[in-house]
Amino acid sequence: MWRSRAVLAAFASLSLTVGGAQAAGAVGAGEVAPAAPAAAAGSRAVGLPPVVSHVPTSEKVVFITIDDGWAHDPGVAQTLVEQRVPASLFLLPGAFSYDAQYFTGLVEQGRSVNVENHTVNHPDLTALDAAGKDAEVCGAGEQLAAAFGREPKLLRPPYGAVNDDVRLAAKACGVKALITWTHDFTTWGETPATPQLNAGDIVLLHFTPTLGADLKRALDAAKAAGLKPAALMPHLKSAGLVK
Ligand SMILES: [Zn+2]
Repeated sequence: MWRSRAVLAAFASLSLTVGGAQAAGAVGAGEVAPAAPAAAAGSRAVGLPPVVSHVPTSEKVVFITIDDGWAHDPGVAQTLVEQRVPASLFLLPGAFSYDAQYFTGLVEQGRSVNVENHTVNHPDLTALDAAGKDAEVCGAGEQLAAAFGREPKLLRPPYGAVNDDVRLAAKACGVKALITWTHDFTTWGETPATPQLNAGDIVLLHFTPTLGADLKRALDAAKAAGLKPAALMPHLKSAGLVK
């Protein structure tokens, strides 16, 4: 496993000189990803996991994703469990390790609540060399698997910063798709305006002290649009984005 990763990682740095197409719409609102190398003519990211900011679907669904994991509000856990809200939690090892029970409880009692990969130290992965990417993504995957008994399949690249080298490194760590977002509902100082949600939108939230209110705004917006929170992976599969 380690050896094949190292080979892929070496290939990743080689491919820098070739360049590659960056997935359109990969970056969420308010985030600016570093520019990708210029795409070579006809270059296609064949076989790399997709970067998904919105899931094409005709079903009336939205996807709730919650990042980092620093604040552990019992009220939020209660809402997710009692309202049976499917959610993808992109957690940092440092943020769950001091109170992993909060999240293991959510996974056990919630409906389709999964813990996914958000790296170890929250770096801009595009700024790291191949070994650095490997340590951040595979390292987090291993820690999450040890803590939650399931290998994460999805990666949220910190800051939404992605390029083909990040996708290649993610693939080598068993990642099936890189998930960015359609709308960020997080209160960063000021409560953002609530957007109109559409089918297939990916909602970004964070485990901050305002998560309870932010989650309520997101669930209310989904309800107002006639949409239900749904589990991400089955819809990635039916959209043909993940096998
Ligand atoms: Zn984050």
